[in-house]
Amino acid sequence: MKRLAAIFVLAVLVGSVPAAFPGISRGSDLPSAERVAEYLYTHASGGPWQSGPNYSWSHEAGLVRFAVPPTVRLAEGMSKRERAISMQAIALINRALPFDQHLRFGPDAPAGVAWDWKGGLPDVPDGQIFIEFVDGNPRGGRPGSQALGHQATILEYDAQQGRWEKKHLRASAVEMNSVFFRDRPDWQAVSVLVHELIHGLGFAGHPGKDFADSIMEDSWFRLNGSLPDIDMAALQVLYTKLSEDTEPEDISAQSLGAWDDESTDITGVLGPVSFGVRHANNVSVPFTSGSEPSKPLAESGLSKTRVVTWRGELLGLTPKLRTVAGTATVSVALLTMCGTAKFTNLRSFPVLSTPTRRGGVRWGDGTLDYEIRVGSNYLYSTGGDAGVVSGSFYGDNHRYVGGTVERSDLTAAFGARR
Ligand SMILES: [Zn+2]
Repeated sequence: MKRLAAIFVLAVLVGSVPAAFPGISRGSDLPSAERVAEYLYTHASGGPWQSGPNYSWSHEAGLVRFAVPPTVRLAEGMSKRERAISMQAIALINRALPFDQHLRFGPDAPAGVAWDWKGGLPDVPDGQIFIEFVDGNPRGGRPGSQALGHQATILEYDAQQGRWEKKHLRASAVEMNSVFFRDRPDWQAVSVLVHELIHGLGFAGHPGKDFADSIMEDSWFRLNGSLPDIDMAALQVLYTKLSEDTEPEDISAQSLGAWDDESTDITGVLGPVSFGVRHANNVSVPFTSGSEPSKPLAESGLSKTRVVTWRGELLGLTPKLRTVAGTATVSVALLTMCGTAKFTNLRSFPVLSTPTRRGGVRWGDGTLDYEIRVGSNYLYSTGGDAGVVSGSFYGDNHRYVGGTVERSDLTAAFGARR
């Protein structure tokens, strides 16, 4: 009897549920309130900031953010790869933010209007961010730069301080050099685009040499399924704790309020992919990490007529921090690069408790279904249940996929194996 039971358990582990068992842990060390305040101050100060050894620039003082989450629009005419890179960059920023502060996604924008930054982006409507890949260097900015993010702000004169200050972030635009990024790895374009988007969301400057771990100091910092801790923490403060405009003198560690410098994590591991959710400072952040394949999925050598399926596990947190676990199945038709992401057997468990293979109570109706599209090595949802799915293929020969599911009632990540 005992032997039979043991064999049964082994069969279950080897068979349908390949992911390593998840764990709850005291998580990672996060930046201190002092360090986050220092980062915020450099952006609020107005500069001057450095970009490379021979170029510096400055702005009016003041740290501004969008009053309500902005709508991002991609310029018409983007290639499928550029679109997938843009979706991944937007997803990385949204993973750092609580769901109600996520960037919204709008219809394609007309091409050719993201450049008129000296005129204050007259053709970009209020509350919007345009992203465009252009045939050559972006117009304006540092000579020779391959990407540019610009804010259209409204200024007011502060008689007490004797200076003009940024009071309102009206709109933003990002330009990327399409030719330059065409022959470079995906992650470089994603990293640079995230850097420019964060300029557009409010952080106008570069935080300086003491912040070598920031995507805002080093736009070639290799992102792997999440933002660097410092940028994540600062974006969270900007969009959840600060008002629409903040003067540099009002920024201090105390102004951040109660501050967690350690997170609670729920993490799963599947081969070289780890995935999970980190919770700190009232924000649940889903993450994935792994090694990027050397070729796009379309060039993987897998037969083009196939529908390829990856199976694994989902782990998540509800807004009340109950843990959620279930099965993840991602399928892609290689001919069309369209497919589905399905999550089944979704169960919830008590607050921050470790999920078990059995047990828990059914979460929702137990399933979530999404239609997805793949560009290069990134996937993003195009329809289905409420919420957004994004992810990346990982490992040699695209053997793995990792991604996130974000909804008002669930923040989750998944890993799966082909
Ligand atoms: Zn920059």
